[in-house]
Parts: sequence; structure tokens; C-alpha cells
Amino acid sequence: MQNFHQPLGMTRIVHTLAVLALWHGCLAFIYVDPNPRPIIYPPGYDRLAVEMAISRRSPDGPLVWTLSGLREGDIMDDYSNARNVIRDTNKLWINNTVPFAFAPGYTNEQMVEIIKGMKLIMKGSCIKFRSVKIGVDKDFIYIQPLSGCWSLVGRQGTGAQTVSLMPPTNGSTCVYYGVAAHEFLHALGFEHMHDNFNRDDYVTVNFTNVQPKYYHDFDKISKKDYTDFGVPYDYDSVMHYDRYAFSVDPDDATKTTIIPKDPNAVIGQNDHVSKRDFKKLNIRYNCTDFL
Ligand SMILES: [Zn+2]
Repeated sequence: MQNFHQPLGMTRIVHTLAVLALWHGCLAFIYVDPNPRPIIYPPGYDRLAVEMAISRRSPDGPLVWTLSGLREGDIMDDYSNARNVIRDTNKLWINNTVPFAFAPGYTNEQMVEIIKGMKLIMKGSCIKFRSVKIGVDKDFIYIQPLSGCWSLVGRQGTGAQTVSLMPPTNGSTCVYYGVAAHEFLHALGFEHMHDNFNRDDYVTVNFTNVQPKYYHDFDKISKKDYTDFGVPYDYDSVMHYDRYAFSVDPDDATKTTIIPKDPNAVIGQNDHVSKRDFKKLNIRYNCTDFL
């Protein structure tokens, strides 16, 4: 009689090795954190509303991460730490290396898609994503299938550091390589482009079309905490939101919230890391071979 009771653990290991074979250099490691750090959501955070908004999002709707219910949509603040940390070298990843692990709950295809986001960053910089070595690496990114797509900004120095990438719900998902790359850039120390201190020279934020509860999501980043290293403003940045971010009605084409001063500018892409994104990343992490 055939044994239908294959141990699941073994199946998972075999699948993980398959991912490894496809993406050598990026081992997909599934890890259950024995001492998870509690995630403290901001006051008023509504998990069900986030899941609903993402599941109802139309394909040409707003960028998926803007629906995640946190500051600027997708930034989880650790209230014990200063934010907008890109100037703070303590928040960088040591030796340009970002150890990572997946929490259980992703399919192999989803892990491959997320790893594609890492590969995208690795291709144009000296940043290295690799599987965490438990007991050796103090800090690592812990990719979890929670509600919404979000990340903290910079390395927090607290061990397992969550990046949430919600799996598909009725088609809309955070598990897309460009979304993953956006969230990983937050974890590497990036803030949003359209909130840069000089943004008013390049875009107009039309507050009449912004839902009032999201006004603060357009607060500019302070020059004290953040620098663009003199790299010019970048409409093409993967960290730039789209024209309908936090709109009162994103389905109404007239209700734009971010209007580029350059009429030909395209904003809100999530398919690539721009040249200027890479430039800043490579300056920040001293990737001299890529500059
Ligand atoms: Zn973001």
C-alpha cells in the first residue's frame, strides 16, 4: 500500500532546495522566530480595513503599499527610534549584508518573486542579501505574510526585523518583486522620494484631493535626518508615489494628489530601481565599484 503520509517537513525542505537551485546565492530559509518581538501598530490601525482595501484594489488603482494603513502608507515606526534615518550610519546594514529569513506561509513561487526583488537591488549595488545564520547574525530581515506591505526604515538593531509582504487576496498582493524592492529599500534606510525636503520644487501636492486623515503622510522629511547626497530629484524613483496616492477618490481621474511640475514626468512606477535610487544607495553604502 502506498504511503500517503509523506512528512510535510521533508516536502518543505525539498521545495526550499528547489528555490535554492533556481536562485543560488539567495537561500530561501524558512524560520519560526521563537521569541517574536511584538509589533506595535499605531493608534487607529485597522487590520481588516487594510486587507479589504488591498483585496478590492483594481489593477490600475493606487500603488498597493499605499493601502497598508501606516505612516505614509507603508512605514512602520519604531517609536523608540528616530525616523528618517538615512544619515544615521548606525542604521545601516553591517558589511553591506542583509541576512533574511521567511516566516512560514509563503509558497515557493511567492518566495522566488520576493527574492527577485532582492536580486534587483543586488544587481546594481554592493548590497548582499543572504540567508540568515541563526546564532551568528545579530540582525536580519524577517519576511512575514502579515496585513499590507510595510517596513521599518533602516536596520533597527533589534534582531528579527519584520518586512510585511501580504500574499495575494483576490488578485492584489504585496508579493511582487517591485513592491518587495521598495520595502527592502526602506529597510536599507530610504524614505519616500515625494516627501523629500525639496519636493515642492518638483511636484505639487494637491491637498484638496487628499483624504484629510492622510495629510500627515505628505509631511516633508527633515534635512537634518535625511540627505539625498546632492542627487537630483527623481520622478523615476521606486520610492515615489503615484498621482492618486491617498486620493479622496482614486478611481476619479481628476482627483490627482501629486502633480509633477514636469508635465512629461511619469511617477509611481514599481517595476525597477531607478538610476538615482541606485546612486544614493551606492553612495550611502560606499559601493565604490558601482559609482
Ligand atoms: Zn514606502
